[in-house]
Amino acid sequence: MRLSRYFLPVLKETPAEAQIVSHRLMLRAGMIKQAAAGIYSWLPLGYRVLRRVEQIVHEEQQRAGHIPLLMPTLQSADLWRESGRYDAYGEELLRIRDRHDRDMLYGPTNEEMITDIFRSHVSSYRDLPLTLYHIQWKFRDEVRPRFGVMRGREFLMKDGYNFDVDRDAAIHAYNRHMVSYLRTYERMGLQAIPMRAASGPIGGDDTHEFLVLAETGESEVFYDSAITDLRLGDRVVDFDSRDECRAIVDEWTAPYARTDETHDEAAFAERVPTERQRRSRGIEVGQIFYFGTKYSEPMGALVTNDAGERVPVHMGSHGIGVSRLLGAIIEASHDENGIIWPEGVTPFHCGIVNLRQGDAATDAACEQLYATLTARGLDPLYDDRDERAGAKFATMDLVGLPWRITVGPRGLNAGKVELTSRRTGRSEEMSLEDAVARVADIYAAA
Ligand code: ATP
Ligand code: MG
Repeated sequence: MRLSRYFLPVLKETPAEAQIVSHRLMLRAGMIKQAAAGIYSWLPLGYRVLRRVEQIVHEEQQRAGHIPLLMPTLQSADLWRESGRYDAYGEELLRIRDRHDRDMLYGPTNEEMITDIFRSHVSSYRDLPLTLYHIQWKFRDEVRPRFGVMRGREFLMKDGYNFDVDRDAAIHAYNRHMVSYLRTYERMGLQAIPMRAASGPIGGDDTHEFLVLAETGESEVFYDSAITDLRLGDRVVDFDSRDECRAIVDEWTAPYARTDETHDEAAFAERVPTERQRRSRGIEVGQIFYFGTKYSEPMGALVTNDAGERVPVHMGSHGIGVSRLLGAIIEASHDENGIIWPEGVTPFHCGIVNLRQGDAATDAACEQLYATLTARGLDPLYDDRDERAGAKFATMDLVGLPWRITVGPRGLNAGKVELTSRRTGRSEEMSLEDAVARVADIYAAA
């Protein structure tokens, strides 16, 4: 993308309404624009990152064997009356009436709708296990929407639902989700710690939240620092293997890690050596639940088991806060000059800064870089505006591309361009070809 033809409305001033750094940087970098309280338009740069985050979620869900579909945002109130949640859900539920006076709602979650789909088409244990998921906009009429996309009213969520013949099979689905979530967040450059949580309006006893550590997080968290040494990395996991998934879950749930809702000071003191006790704050970026037959029983989602009996199917639901993740990633990865995108989610793979726009040799070298990077399947953002070098660097630092290639007449005379890491600030001179190869290698390994 050439910056001169792009739509990147960066702000010079720090927006006064934004209280936390991720919100400020998303506004300043021209990623989002507020449309109403807690409702945002995703401008081109923000939209690119949103799509990349979504793509990782899709890939990791499907790696675990989960099947994508798409359910609507608007739902009929009748389904919610069957589960009892139409009245129980409270003020966060946006209730709508259509022209025929039918009660509708903007879905805050989809347990009822997916259970209805299931009961319409599945009736035998032979069709199980089954996990269906979608990535769709949700609406929750939060009392206090704030912190930008972090606590919106309209937000993008991945929500998945498992259907299993009995508790053991459903617990495997739970474990499988935990493992796939760990990998999902790691690919985004995040450490999200699974913590035992309380269940809220979804219901159920077994539940973990995934928290990214950040001072601005809304949850208070208590954990054993040993958990921060764990990495899933590129371990090959057989998601069908109950033992393999359980072993990984055991590894991650052995160290103490809880939110304020479930924290037990005595257990914390007893189980965690003082020097490893950590009290801090975290951002919830996902949650998994096993809730058994809470929806299948009232809604009559039954399957025939291998003994020939009709039994309610065992379910769980599993959410990832896709749009919130952008805020969480920025909270975890920024400096005083702007965002620092992890390679896994960056909106462009690298920036090209032309130090002397209009100089024939410099322009030609930048064009060549742009073409070669593009031919290697990379997406560069080329700052081809007629601007001072300082302004170009400031824009690149603000939007946070992890790598920048700087091209100027002086370097070119020696056959060199400069490759700079946004994270470390370190620069290295090398030939144009080497710079392309280096960037390509970095992303091949990422
Ligand atoms: P919270 O406790 O933050 O209100 P929740 O526990 O009610 O969230 P879940 O039902 O677990 O939310 O939804 C799954 C995920 O969706 C959450 O882990 C979170 O990342 C995201 N999410 C929930 N509410 C919002 C919101 N208002 N804005 C943005 N993301 C949200
Ligand atoms: Mg939650």
